[in-house]
Amino acid sequence: SSCQDDEVSKAQTAQKLNQQPTIFSKIVDKKIPADIIFEDNQCVVFRDVNPQGPVHFLVVPRKPIPGLSDVQDGDELLLGHLLIVAKKMAEKEKLLDGYRLVINNGRHGAQSVHHLHIHVIGGRQMNWPPG
Ligand code: 5GP
Repeated sequence: SSCQDDEVSKAQTAQKLNQQPTIFSKIVDKKIPADIIFEDNQCVVFRDVNPQGPVHFLVVPRKPIPGLSDVQDGDELLLGHLLIVAKKMAEKEKLLDGYRLVINNGRHGAQSVHHLHIHVIGGRQMNWPPG
């Protein structure tokens, strides 16, 4: 039933929450180093350790939300803020010819770190569809 589905989804979320702190929480808390290029009270932006383009950084909320599927209605302002920061940092990184934003979610989305993050990739021509 949909009620059971809801319980399964809650259990999966709890399991993911139990995986905190993730590597990104440790970066946000300055327990491990990263090339941080911006931070404010809501998020931290740092370069991806395995860049998929000349520019590749991650916009990461301080709040340890496991993934986009765990976002709540109350996170609306935070999510908007992350996009505004992504856009401003793309400008600061001089991605004047455009760039790609990616949020991998769950297994089919090939998400590997269960702390919500927005990839911003640029400095080369992107292709579509993604692999
Ligand atoms: P996902 O597949 O979860 O969307 O992306 C995780 C990203 O985090 C990958 O692009 C990976 O290269 C990056 N990453 C994983 N561990 C670290 C780390 O310790 N430091 C940094 N800066 N990036 C990391």
